[in-house]
Amino acid sequence: MCYIHAPNCSRRAVMKKPKSNHKKIGARAKKGPKSTALSRHAMAAASCVTAPKDAGTNPQRVRTILQKLDEAYPDVACALVHENPFQLLVSTILSAQCTDERVNKVTKALFVKYRTPQEFARASPSELELDIRSTGFFRNKAKSILGASRKIVEEFGGEVPRTMEQLLTLPGVARKTANVVLGTAFGIAVGVVVDTHVTRLSNRLDLSRNSDPKKIEQDLMRVIPPEKWILFSHQMIWHGRKVCVARKPRCSECNLEQICYAKDKTV
Ligand code: SF4
Repeated sequence: MCYIHAPNCSRRAVMKKPKSNHKKIGARAKKGPKSTALSRHAMAAASCVTAPKDAGTNPQRVRTILQKLDEAYPDVACALVHENPFQLLVSTILSAQCTDERVNKVTKALFVKYRTPQEFARASPSELELDIRSTGFFRNKAKSILGASRKIVEEFGGEVPRTMEQLLTLPGVARKTANVVLGTAFGIAVGVVVDTHVTRLSNRLDLSRNSDPKKIEQDLMRVIPPEKWILFSHQMIWHGRKVCVARKPRCSECNLEQICYAKDKTV
């Protein structure tokens, strides 16, 4: 069976061609632009140029993707170490443009020094900046953490709010962070976490041809059943870290390889 194209791809006739010709088509696909040189827009456009629109979101294909992710990552969870929703919120703010490993190293000491939203709210901005410096963008992150802590103390009784609407009023909190907190800390699924990994994988797997995280989230919410949103987010993030990495994805180790027709596949 030809796996270069989606099941209902109009170019399925390729499947009937002799093996040698089929290989050439595969070779042409490999010569496509490298992922390392692609912008997010180019990635979205290039990931699926051979497949007709909506090919990637064929319900049977989506079910197979979910099944394969369940097989590979049956019980993955958020990699940010936390003991309560507030710590998860702080860790998620710190994780922007930073690895979870680095964030976990920083928060190990940070959550001993500042134990509650009240203690964070009273922190000296310059001292907090130093405490989180190694996570990058530390001035903005310190501002967000201080602002969010103060608002949580002053307007939400010291508790992290449990609705998307309220979370989005906190400084430094956009849909990605709110979805992480709602899904992981409270088990509330109101959307799909779209970070850099989910963005890249959604494009490569042709689940979305958009590059804007908000639009990607809408695309995913249309095709992924709501009861899978939380686990699906974790699975995509883990797959993006371990296998479908940005540079040279490890396609030979990927259990989605047979249904993936990304232009920058490495097999
Ligand atoms: S690792 Fe390769 S085969 Fe797997 S999803 Fe990513 S691009 Fe496709």
